[in-house]
Amino acid sequence: MNLNVERLCVSFSDADIVKEVSVQVKNKQFVGLIGPNGCGKSTLLKSIYKVIKPRQGDVFLDDLNVIKANPKHVSRKLGVVGQFNELSFDFTVQEMVMMGRTPHKGLLETDSSEDYRIVEAALAKVNLASYAARSYNSLSGGEKQRVILARTLAQQPEFMILDEPTNHLDIKFQLQILSIVRKLDIGILAALHDLTLAAEYCDYLYVMKEGRVVAKGEPEQILTKELIHQVFDVSCEIYRNPVTGGLGIAYLQAGGM
Ligand code: ADP
Ligand code: MG
Repeated sequence: MNLNVERLCVSFSDADIVKEVSVQVKNKQFVGLIGPNGCGKSTLLKSIYKVIKPRQGDVFLDDLNVIKANPKHVSRKLGVVGQFNELSFDFTVQEMVMMGRTPHKGLLETDSSEDYRIVEAALAKVNLASYAARSYNSLSGGEKQRVILARTLAQQPEFMILDEPTNHLDIKFQLQILSIVRKLDIGILAALHDLTLAAEYCDYLYVMKEGRVVAKGEPEQILTKELIHQVFDVSCEIYRNPVTGGLGIAYLQAGGM
């Protein structure tokens, strides 16, 4: 399933936050969205997953017009792991993950043994098999993040959007989440804050600054020290990591700029 975002604009009262952004995810690519805090990544993603109505532009998942389509229809195809996942009511972990099955059910349809099997498999995949009966609100930020990913896995979407999915996680689970997502074999659009991880896991990157896409391309091509300085206002040197063979970024201290 391909995602096509065409010249999307989002404004809040007078402020233009997302300015004519076009993004494509083709052929089950893992596409990363990077850029400094406040540049509009979450706003762009929210307008793709129908939480915010864009002022202008189109979003298509294959030939499904996401902006016009009804939410339930979209939720059968599109899974979302948002940036903040607080809940006012308490649910067990199993109930949370079971919510991922909702888009596939009729109004009064009860949970089938197949649904329970899918939920169990999703929890096992994020290493939380023994957490099914725990209260969601009692979990740490990182555990919550993994439950939300499990819920999205249980949804069995054909395309997934993730907004800084590794925010609260220590490095082991950052790598685990990105590897799980990478292996799903579906199209992925993810806002990521760690540039080295973005370079390692993404096939393609879009770089945003002040609401616009200022660069796009394969990580190794576009992550230059000039771009990082221009977009993030920090000095760095790019090197080849001798252990992973991947791209390394050495940030220089502010005093040394
Ligand atoms: P990012 O995810 O890249 O850090 P956001 O998309 O969250 O950035 O925010 C981009 C800008 O839009 C910020 O300046 C933020 O304050 C503003 N913004 C986000 N949501 C709203 C809103 N509902 N009303 C007004 N301004 C908003
Ligand atoms: Mg954000």
